Amino acid sequence: MSELRDLYQEVILDHSRQPRNFYAMEDSSHRAEGYNPLCGDKVTIYLRCEDDVVTKVSFEGAGCAISTASASILTECLVGKTRQAVQELFDSFHDMLTGKAEPLPDTEKLGKLAVFQGVCEFPMRVKCATLAWHALQAAFDETNDSITTE
Ligand code: ZN
Repeated sequence: MSELRDLYQEVILDHSRQPRNFYAMEDSSHRAEGYNPLCGDKVTIYLRCEDDVVTKVSFEGAGCAISTASASILTECLVGKTRQAVQELFDSFHDMLTGKAEPLPDTEKLGKLAVFQGVCEFPMRVKCATLAWHALQAAFDETNDSITTE
């Protein structure tokens, strides 16, 4: 289990150092900012949706390793998914982070997001890991306003 944990940490560090899809999308159809005052993390999520299916995702922002890696991995998980599928994925992710996915999270469904399962031992970090997802939900709602995790 500790080997798996090291691997997960490596994935998180890799994504935080070299975030994927890290740019401001000019032709986005949805966009929202998120802010986590507990840690100082900021993220802006850009989405392009066609017929309710996500076709492109990108983000910009600055924050701790967890928040940056979470946003980066999020951008790799959503393309081709409907809003409903994205919501189900977020629900599973959130259950894993808050320890509700007992006895074990459904790692097959979570895919890459499983690397964050250690976060459930650090409740303060849950908001770092979910910030990009809250911004994503705000983006879907086209509120275009800033949201905070408070
Ligand atoms: Zn953070």
